[in-house]
Amino acid sequence: MIRSLNSFDLKDKRVLIRVDYNVPIEDGVVKDAYRIQCSIPTIKECLESGASVVLMSHLGRPEGKFNEDYSLISVGEVLSDFLEIPIKFSHDCISEDAINVTIGLHPGEVHLLENLRFHNAEEENDIEFSRLLSKHGQIYINDAFGTSHRSHASNVGVADNFTHKGMGLLMKKEIQYLQNKFKNPKEPLVLLLGGAKISGKIDLIENFLIDAKTILIGGGMTFTFLKAMGLDVGKSIIDEQMISVANKVIKKARQNRVKIVFPIDFIAADSIDKPSKIETISFDSIPTNMMGLDIGPETIKLFSKILQKSGTILWNGPMGVFEKKNFENGTKEITNLLSELKDENIITIVGGGDSASAIRKFSNIENFTHVSTGGGASLELLSGKNLPAIEALGKL
Ligand code: AMP
Repeated sequence: MIRSLNSFDLKDKRVLIRVDYNVPIEDGVVKDAYRIQCSIPTIKECLESGASVVLMSHLGRPEGKFNEDYSLISVGEVLSDFLEIPIKFSHDCISEDAINVTIGLHPGEVHLLENLRFHNAEEENDIEFSRLLSKHGQIYINDAFGTSHRSHASNVGVADNFTHKGMGLLMKKEIQYLQNKFKNPKEPLVLLLGGAKISGKIDLIENFLIDAKTILIGGGMTFTFLKAMGLDVGKSIIDEQMISVANKVIKKARQNRVKIVFPIDFIAADSIDKPSKIETISFDSIPTNMMGLDIGPETIKLFSKILQKSGTILWNGPMGVFEKKNFENGTKEITNLLSELKDENIITIVGGGDSASAIRKFSNIENFTHVSTGGGASLELLSGKNLPAIEALGKL
């Protein structure tokens, strides 16, 4: 069994926590602190139990060498504000100095290490690098859900060096909502899927082809399905290689009595960036020189009706090119509708990535039951796959 944070005697211990502080930073300013905010309960729990805390994370892709743009210093400032205490910072995660700072920590103190990916050894899951990292703690806690689909030194290799290891409060919550909630969901369970790439979501769809009552499909992935059904999709995005898979999914859904609902109208244009023509069109009359870039008003009504009657909703992927004003309306309207459903006792679970960005753009994270901190990791967990960093902690 994987141990939970509250199963440890934390008093006077040094706790090494892998957190996910891979957050957007522009000109040294953190643009979205959601992941930092989500790490606070675990850190506070440790501090209040009399432990000291060492935090390690990656940020971006600095390719194995120091790069100021990927420094965790600005993350440290935000973290210090959240915790309302000063924190210690080391400019290298495995230097002797850094390890000495850790050894000198008093209960209640926090030490943040510089970006793990300033060393190639992190992504290579290097044994020696893992061993050096492990010198920072007597107990190892993984709370970095967003990287748990990767096998790196700080989340997989490092675990071998600890007898006392377990998951943090965020990791536990992510698993509870993205896995356990679907074992016995509040019925009916409705999946709302969008985004451009069908390939990344097909495993998820297949995994839910038994338990879900309805699957609503929007976004660019719609067009591979429409093409599979023999419809003309004009210039809309499709993935040729997935057409046969889309066909199989449609057949399997029919056998399992899972209803797949596709958009009945679209906002279409001749270009994403510089459209000279934008029209609302029916799903079966997309002109050859146009592409569907958002769901249309009739689809919004249709999807809304189904969503309002559900018990649990799992949402992953935007309904259109929501980054562009012309094609944001479908995602915006659906986000706003979903924001009202938590108060009607409908469980709304959102699988990170672009859907989480849409929520931040059009609504508020608090309006949802759970918004995952991990895009890729949540997709893999929802697809029924085992995540290596969770497995490294023991059996679930
Ligand atoms: P994904 O990573 O597969 O979830 O895709 C997210 C991206 O899908 C977003 O950047 C959207 O702009 C894009 N997207 C959504 N709908 C469409 C569409 N109809 N055509 C092209 N791209 C889309």
